[in-house]
Amino acid sequence: MEENLVLIEHPAEGVARIVLNRPDKRNAQTKDMIYQLNDAFDVCAQDDAVKVIILAANGPHFSAGHDLSDYSVPMDAFTPVSTAGGFTLPGAEGYMAVETEIYLGMCWRWRNIPKPTIAEVQGKVIAGGLMLVWPCDLVVASSDATFSDPVVVFGVNGHEFFTHVWELGARRAKELLYTGFPITADEGKLIGMVNKVVPREDLQRETLELAIHISRRPSMGLKLAKQSVNQSLDAQGQWQAIQAAFGLHQLGHSHNREVHGSYIDPSGAEIIRTENKPK
Ligand code: ZN
Repeated sequence: MEENLVLIEHPAEGVARIVLNRPDKRNAQTKDMIYQLNDAFDVCAQDDAVKVIILAANGPHFSAGHDLSDYSVPMDAFTPVSTAGGFTLPGAEGYMAVETEIYLGMCWRWRNIPKPTIAEVQGKVIAGGLMLVWPCDLVVASSDATFSDPVVVFGVNGHEFFTHVWELGARRAKELLYTGFPITADEGKLIGMVNKVVPREDLQRETLELAIHISRRPSMGLKLAKQSVNQSLDAQGQWQAIQAAFGLHQLGHSHNREVHGSYIDPSGAEIIRTENKPK
């Protein structure tokens, strides 16, 4: 267990700022970090003095995704927050239980926090990094931010919280998934995935100003507005679609274990390393 992988700041009255704090690893997420983040969200959700929550990250990059070296770390050290169990059971059953708890379950909890959440994003956001940004309500990005989910190259459908179609539209979602190429902050703004793009040096200040502005509204109005939008997504079938994609994601992992002896197709790393990236 590492201390302070996630920090909580109070930069203004009514505003909490949760900060990912593993910059030397580009904020790659370990289970330890995910549970610390969940604890921080819970603290802010239950603190009545907090009206708006910012999710930010120390270092040049918001998050490089899940730390693949952490995959085999057992769940014993953590107290589950969902009703998923059976983490040590053999085969797909155990693996699915772990991903249900630490990925799908966590993202869904955070998506439903009854307070406005704002992602403050710089640098690279890769795969599991999107699973921290997309559950937030608003996204403020610095102009250097890029967003990608290249994991199709590893033989799965995409990261585990499959809201791609709602975030990007169906055609752009397919392009992102098929090619692995990143979306820039400006394009993210153009297609509605990003609310605001600002220079890197203004990112923290501009995000805080937006949070302070929102925090002046009554918490009741804010939570009713959030729930109304989220229920509109629910009425469109978003949660059902996320769960269906999660099942296919587990099928991908199972296929890879059967064929390659690993939960991801090991040829993916070489493909990513050698192919040409667009300017
Ligand atoms: Zn997975």
